[in-house]
Amino acid sequence: MFLPTTKEEMTALGWHELDVILISGDSYIDSPYSGVTVIGKVLQKAGFRVGIIAQPDITSDVDISRLGEPTLFWGVTGGTVDSMVANYTATLRKRRSDDFTPGGENNRRPDRAVIAYTNLIKRFFKNSRPIVLGGIEASLRRVTHYDYWTDKLRAPVLFDSKADYILYGMAETSTVELARSFKEKKSPLSIRGLCYLAKSAPEGYIALPSYEECVTDHSAFTKMYHLFYQNNDPISAKGLAQQKGDRYFVQNPPALTLTQPQLDKIYSLTYERDQHPYYEKQGSVKTLETIRFSISTHRGCYGECNFCAIAVHEGRTVASRSEASILAEAEAFTKHPKFKGIINDLGGPTANMYAIECSKKLHNGACSDKRCLFPDICPVLKIDHNPQVDLLTKVRQIPGIKKVFVGSGIRYDMVLADKQNGLTYLKEIVAHHTSGQLKVAPEHADPYVLKMMGKPTVGSLLKFKKMFEKLTYEAGKDQYLTYYLIAAYPGSSDREMKQLKEFVTTKLHLTPEQVQVFTPTPSTYASVMYYTEKDPFTGETIFVEKNTARKVSQKELIAKPAATGTSKTESLRTPKPENGYANKSRPQRRPR
Ligand code: SF4
Repeated sequence: MFLPTTKEEMTALGWHELDVILISGDSYIDSPYSGVTVIGKVLQKAGFRVGIIAQPDITSDVDISRLGEPTLFWGVTGGTVDSMVANYTATLRKRRSDDFTPGGENNRRPDRAVIAYTNLIKRFFKNSRPIVLGGIEASLRRVTHYDYWTDKLRAPVLFDSKADYILYGMAETSTVELARSFKEKKSPLSIRGLCYLAKSAPEGYIALPSYEECVTDHSAFTKMYHLFYQNNDPISAKGLAQQKGDRYFVQNPPALTLTQPQLDKIYSLTYERDQHPYYEKQGSVKTLETIRFSISTHRGCYGECNFCAIAVHEGRTVASRSEASILAEAEAFTKHPKFKGIINDLGGPTANMYAIECSKKLHNGACSDKRCLFPDICPVLKIDHNPQVDLLTKVRQIPGIKKVFVGSGIRYDMVLADKQNGLTYLKEIVAHHTSGQLKVAPEHADPYVLKMMGKPTVGSLLKFKKMFEKLTYEAGKDQYLTYYLIAAYPGSSDREMKQLKEFVTTKLHLTPEQVQVFTPTPSTYASVMYYTEKDPFTGETIFVEKNTARKVSQKELIAKPAATGTSKTESLRTPKPENGYANKSRPQRRPR
């Protein structure tokens, strides 16, 4: 059942008012890939009356007043993608299309959507109920951050938006706790995952360098980001406080990672896997083609690529669903009238992290002084692809399922590190789960740039490529690897791009047609590098290309057809949406 979007739908449910109204920058797609939908369904399951207003008109009260005012709070999200990433290309041109907008034209999502929607509510509801921000835009702009679109540091978004709270990260449990605290008229200030503004910092909270210090001193901003990043693990994190003027931004420790039964419960809720009819009248949304029949097997990522915000938003701990829960979802597909037997993706932020996690991390929290996969795979992480092989085999054997693709990227260094089952896993992928192209993300080939990215060296890529091609040949298939590459990343000049060109021509034997120009997205190490022009880990100065024309020329150095012949032309295509993150969100969510 859809959540109500009009008074008529509320009345049909016997509701005269709502406890919570959710506002989203995306169209309303009733799918577990839509964060706002999941939050709405979880709240509803907990007994609250919830409605949704998607992509409201910000110039009038026509949409925002449609459902009245909620009794408890307004929940506001910019959508699945930061609105500035959604609205502008890496070269700061306005995007014309939007995969989450009916009809596909990018004409309904305002810039800085969480601020725009908060203003909209405040304009038409004086002394409104509390406004609570959530989703990727608010989550990654919760503390002082570099904003590429204005080329300056911006204060925590609570200062700019005048909203009351942020629930950051994966917020199912904290949202229900917040709703209960409002209902019971209790203070919400101790809820995990909550951010708010205060006159003083709570005792025991770590004092971050102030906003003013960050603005005037690059090293203060770098220090702030390290503290922010290190205090993101639910087990070990301390609360944080950052002063701006005479007030403090306060961040409570993150919500606990969901247990497997909690995660399974979320996916056992009923989803229509469709766009709400109210919005469907305005046109179809492209992203549905991919997410309607895809399955999210896990959350979180310990890849920690420096340009990616997944570790900050979803956490470094991978939480996996049970096999039974995933099989039940796949079986339910076979009863859906629109299902044609194809599962577009069975994966997560990185497909092959399913059911692989470090036991030490699960007890003590993620290490603050080292990473799980970079520069080498940590020996404590026991990589075993066997549960994934079992899962894939069982899903494709369900009657009514013809094909199961792994559309999410896979981490090739993990496949190589699994001496027992890595080869078997890749054999399965090659034989049964690749739809012509398998996505991998080397991103670059130059060792220095790869170090700045936190990515593995090309040695493991070439070994993986050899394995993939051999298995593909043996399986009699016509399929190949798709490589994602980035131009103009911090540390990359024309010289490094020429080296990359040499590598893809002589080692990968292809000529890329599309390469992505780097976008520094909020709250990533890469954006700290871009802003400070320093390596945040060593303090060394790094070259950063900031001129738009020269960024494009870096891209053209590799993306143009080669003068000499190559054996195959490869399209480094813009990826399809992955787990709800449309192609425009690639800087935030990419295959590892
Ligand atoms: S011990 Fe190794 S695998 Fe475990 S959290 Fe630390 S770095 Fe990651």
